[in-house]
Parts: sequence; C-alpha cells; structure tokens
Amino acid sequence: MVAKVLLKPRMAKPFWCGEPWVFEGSVDRLKGVRDLAEGDVVEVCDEAGRLVGRGFWSGKSPIRVRMLTVGDEPADDDLLRRRLRTAVALRREILRLDERNDVYRLCHAEGDGLPGLVVDRIGDHLVVQFDHAGPLRRSEVILDELEALCAPVGIFRRISRVAREQEKLEGDEGLLRGREPEGPVEVREEGVRHLVDFARGQKSGFYADQRENRRCFARYCEGRDVLDAFSYTGAFGLAALVHGGARSVVAVDSSEPALETAQASAALNGVTDRFTAERANVLRFLDHARKEGGRRWGAVSLDPPKLVPKRSALRKGLRLYREINAKGMAVVEEGGLLATCSCSQAVDEESFSAMIAEAAREVGRTVQLLEAAGPGADHPATVPHLASRYLKFRLYRVL
Ligand code: SAH
Repeated sequence: MVAKVLLKPRMAKPFWCGEPWVFEGSVDRLKGVRDLAEGDVVEVCDEAGRLVGRGFWSGKSPIRVRMLTVGDEPADDDLLRRRLRTAVALRREILRLDERNDVYRLCHAEGDGLPGLVVDRIGDHLVVQFDHAGPLRRSEVILDELEALCAPVGIFRRISRVAREQEKLEGDEGLLRGREPEGPVEVREEGVRHLVDFARGQKSGFYADQRENRRCFARYCEGRDVLDAFSYTGAFGLAALVHGGARSVVAVDSSEPALETAQASAALNGVTDRFTAERANVLRFLDHARKEGGRRWGAVSLDPPKLVPKRSALRKGLRLYREINAKGMAVVEEGGLLATCSCSQAVDEESFSAMIAEAAREVGRTVQLLEAAGPGADHPATVPHLASRYLKFRLYRVL
C-alpha cells in the first residue's frame, strides 16, 4: 500500500497549483506507514483525504515531500523517462543550444519536473547530481534514459552539499558509466572554446548558468580594458575578448588551478596577447588597484561565490556584497560598465538593488541599470517555485 501524507487543514491549495515542496510544518500525519523508506513515492492528500498529488518522501529532510505530479497521474519510472525526454527537448528543439554549445544544463531538478535531479552536459560527458533519495534510488532508470537520449562517452556522479548535509545521502563521487576523459575536456559556449577539468580532484566544472549574461556583458566591452573578478576559468573575460572585441582582460581569482585553465583556454581562442590571469584575493586586488595611482577599467565583472548560504546569514552576506560592489565600482572608469551577480537564493531583487545603491553612495558614484537577467533558459523554473531563480545578473553604467 502506498503511504498517504495528510496535510494540515487549508494547506493543500499551493500544491494544486504546482508548489513542489511539502515542508514538515504542513504535514498533519501519515497513514499506512509501516516501513516508509527514503525516496518512496507517497500520496499527498488534503485534510479530507482527497489526493492532491504524488511525490518523493524524505523523513530526514525538512522538505518531507518533493512533489512529482498533481492529481491522479501515476508517479512511476515512465514518468521519469518522459520528463527527461521533455527536458532534453527543451534544450535541443526550443533553445537549440547544440548549434553553438556543448556545455549546458540538461535537467534542472524541480524546474524540469524532476526534483532532486541535476544533469549537466559537459562536451561528450554528463555530470549527474542526485540531490534526493528519490532519483538516487531510481538511478538505473535515469542513467539508461540519459544514455538512450545523449549517448555520452561517460557519466559522472557529483555530490552536492545539499545532498550530503540536508538529505544525508550516501555514496561516492566518480564515474558511473562509460569512460573518463583523458584530461581536461574542450567545450564550446556560444562558439567560445573552454577547457573543463571536471573529472579530477578539485570541484571544478563550468558555470553554464551565465551563458547569456556573458554574451550580454561582451556586447558592452568593445575596445575596453576589462577586469574579470572572481573569474574562475575566465569565461566572462573570454566572451568579452572573443565576442566583444575587448582591448584587454585581467582575470582575478584566488584559485591557481582555475587560472591555469583560464590561460589554457585563452590560448585555445588565440587571445593570449590580450589576456592576463592574476592570482589574488579580489578585495585586496581592488584596494591595491585603487591606491596604486587609481588603476581603472572600462568594464568590470563581479561574479563572487554564494555569499549567503542560508537565510540567517543574509545581513552578513549583504555587507560583504556591498563591500565587493563598492570596491568594484570604484575602479570603473567614468561612464564605464559594471556587471555584477549574486547566486545566493536568499538575496532577493529588492535587497540586491538596495545593496547596490548603498555601495554606489559609499564610493560617491551614480549607477544606471541597463540590463537585468537571471540564469539562462536551460535553468528553467516552474512558476510558483522561484527558488530555482537563484542567480541575479545586473549590468550598470557607472558615472
Ligand atoms: N565568473 C566565473 C564563476 C565564478 S565562481 C565564471 O563565469 O565561470 C566564484 C569564483 O570566486 C571561484 O573561482 C573562486 O575560486 C573565487 N573566489 C572566491 N573567493 C574569492 C576571493 N576572495 N578572491 C578571489 N577569488 C575568490
């Protein structure tokens, strides 16, 4: 018998409209549970016992159920296969990414109706994250379907922090199917060539969510000297050079391996003469640039890591964002451009804008908002679940 999760009175409505997460606080009681296991499919019912939909159960996580269906649709292996096919079709047929890209997100968990399942395409390989016991227990079905759809050379598993800490999932990272690449693999993003070293040690990969934002930034870079701060493997800077016709790029990051990859990618694109990588703490680098005779750039990109890991760290994180942005604005030439991002889900549009306004005031600059965007469309969100719109990208002119 399938276990039933009965919701508290008047809690069912959002789930009828596609809300994907049932938190423990909304659950009244369970029915028919002898040995409910992590990742089992359960029926979610309203207070009168009417079926609202089905989802994956987790007794260990504050998110007790991740919804898969609304109403009486079966939640079986075939549903997973269909959802994967639909996800792949979005990238291929609607977004037509394959024409200019072979690095992108193939499945974005809840955003593609597959809670707890993230799949990235990196060239001829796939990297899969099972962030929930539901998809993890059905990994064979998922991997079979991915092989049928994409014929990858190899499939890797990566384990996210959410999977380990919140969902308490076990297992190891590594190759699941097929072959490992010999070394770093070469991929293309909008025609720009990049090396990705995802199979080895450090948690590397590629931030495909910024694809459109890199193109957007590049459009403003013609003839400018560009600072790519928090560059990782230099993807913003390389787009500025290859697409944007930037005069020069300085990429700054604290990770030496990332900068080595950046240099190698610059060589692949034939732009080494205009590309410099500098290992430094971005805050110190910016302080130094400002003091050292006021070094400035025509366009600056600031793409820091997630500074607000959870809601309780919001105030502290916003102070750090403000400091980074104030220092970043201070080195933009008069009338130059600042691209700035936040990948912290807890930072909403309003607090991000307020933070930018304060940073501008702090350094006595005026900013004009020219562009605002989120992640690319290969990171879709289901309508009520804006948690998957974690990424904010803003482009300002700095006066
Ligand atoms: N812009 C990149 C992604 C950046 S991810 C892209 O488009 O691919 C964030 C990067 O910030 C990581 O590479 C990390 O090494 C770097 N980082 C984190 N804290 C830093 C600091 N204080 N100074 C310099 N780099 C830092």
